[in-house]
Amino acid sequence: MLVINETSILIDTIDTKKFQNKTIGFVPTMGALHDGHIELIRAAKLECDIIICSIYINPTQFNNVTDLEKYPRTLDDDINLLEKNGCDIAFCPSDKEMFKMGNTLTIDFGEIGKVLEGEFRPGHFSGVGLIVGKFFNIIKPNISYFGQKDLQQFSIVKSLVQNLNFNIQLRCIPTVRSKDGLALSSRNARLSKNGKEEALVFYDSLVLAKQKLLKGETVDDITKEIKSKFNSDIVKLEYFEIVHQDTFEKINTFNNPENIAICIAGYVEGIRLIDNILLS
Ligand code: AMP
Repeated sequence: MLVINETSILIDTIDTKKFQNKTIGFVPTMGALHDGHIELIRAAKLECDIIICSIYINPTQFNNVTDLEKYPRTLDDDINLLEKNGCDIAFCPSDKEMFKMGNTLTIDFGEIGKVLEGEFRPGHFSGVGLIVGKFFNIIKPNISYFGQKDLQQFSIVKSLVQNLNFNIQLRCIPTVRSKDGLALSSRNARLSKNGKEEALVFYDSLVLAKQKLLKGETVDDITKEIKSKFNSDIVKLEYFEIVHQDTFEKINTFNNPENIAICIAGYVEGIRLIDNILLS
């Protein structure tokens, strides 16, 4: 596996004969890799010849300085894991390499960028759009892989691709969970054993809400019940919403499970976690 830090070297490498007429699969990550990320690599390997994975903690998508500072950094382990799983190139640029001109561009994704994550993390999706757009221009992958765990991010990337006419296919890979349901996340590394147990309330709430919706209970009643579960000091709820899975508009009355997602976000031991499930 090649480990590349410079954009110009990555572009030259992709332009070499070895890569001509090959299908390039691209997996963007922020490192501290776990089986959720590796699932994206596995999916890419099933349909692409060459796999490129970026490891870059993008400062422009963090709205909270402490979250950025404390974000887990395990580069050596990440590189070993990628190599073991058949990745061809790990692209690990510095901030200077990615933001030579500073961060001067912002992207407004309209309504979809203003709700849920967009509401609670101002500027987050602008930063995501900016870095993913840069990577798409540098790498020009045929297919790029994202996790359902960040469902709203996937819609943002879809909007980026459609609005800017990137000739790139997108895949959304189902969330990989621990045995008891906790969505794997790099931030889980910062949770204590007790914190990991407390964090199960997020997935349990999603499953309960789904059952109740399918049984015909109202969105209002379900929302009230789920909110009442978050009254401890350790676990705090930021939002619980039942939404349309493409537009992220809130659903007030439910009559069709097609294209409905239940989304949740909150804090455990001060660490922000998000999760979602689809209704069908
Ligand atoms: P991150 O490193 O957290 O920015 O995530 C990089 C990519 O991996 C994103 O597309 C995430 O949605 C995806 N991802 C993160 N956690 C999981 C998971 N548990 N299952 C599937 N995909 C995931």
